[in-house]
Amino acid sequence: MSSTSDRQTSLAYIGLGSNLEQPQQQVATALEELDTLTLCRVTAASRLYASRPVGPQDQPDFVNAVAAVETGLSPLALLDQLQALEQRHRRRRERHWGPRTLDLDVLLFDRTPIVHERLRVPHPSMHERAFVLRPLCEIAPRLPLYEQPLSQWLARLDDDVTPLN
Ligand code: ATP
Ligand code: CA
Ligand code: CA
Repeated sequence: MSSTSDRQTSLAYIGLGSNLEQPQQQVATALEELDTLTLCRVTAASRLYASRPVGPQDQPDFVNAVAAVETGLSPLALLDQLQALEQRHRRRRERHWGPRTLDLDVLLFDRTPIVHERLRVPHPSMHERAFVLRPLCEIAPRLPLYEQPLSQWLARLDDDVTPLN
């Protein structure tokens, strides 16, 4: 990361998902590309997981992963970088929760809650999604979410998420 040592950095957790155009490849490539974003360094990455789609079921299964990213960017600047990376993967926004080549969600940003028209952190649905919590637990098992361990949130869910590697 091309930051100076006195620059304050944050730790963000990013959720990745894909179910189009070789999803495993899309997610594996995106994990590498996250490390090349301005002022971003990937400090941990989960395995890849397969999951059933949220919402419309007439679409392929998803491949998911989670990365920890140390960053000198502000939350909105990080979102800009993530959305630009989605665009480089030729993401098209068609129907809500429809198929996509790459989805990058900011799950957590330090311990800071964010309520902004473009960005809500913690990601509002993460506590009810095994395809987020399972890979996140893998890389950050002791991380709390709303003051409870991630594993407790995960234990409440039907965990039909399968590791791929
Ligand atoms: P979901 O958010 O339920 O996973 P989605 O990922 O399919 O749905 P998108 O179409 O990718 O939703 O994003 C819609 C908008 O959500 C984005 O333009 C972005 O501004 C906003 N957004 C709000 N909070 C977040 C967040 N934590 N991470 C990424 N985008 C967010
Ligand atoms: Ca999403
Ligand atoms: Ca998204």
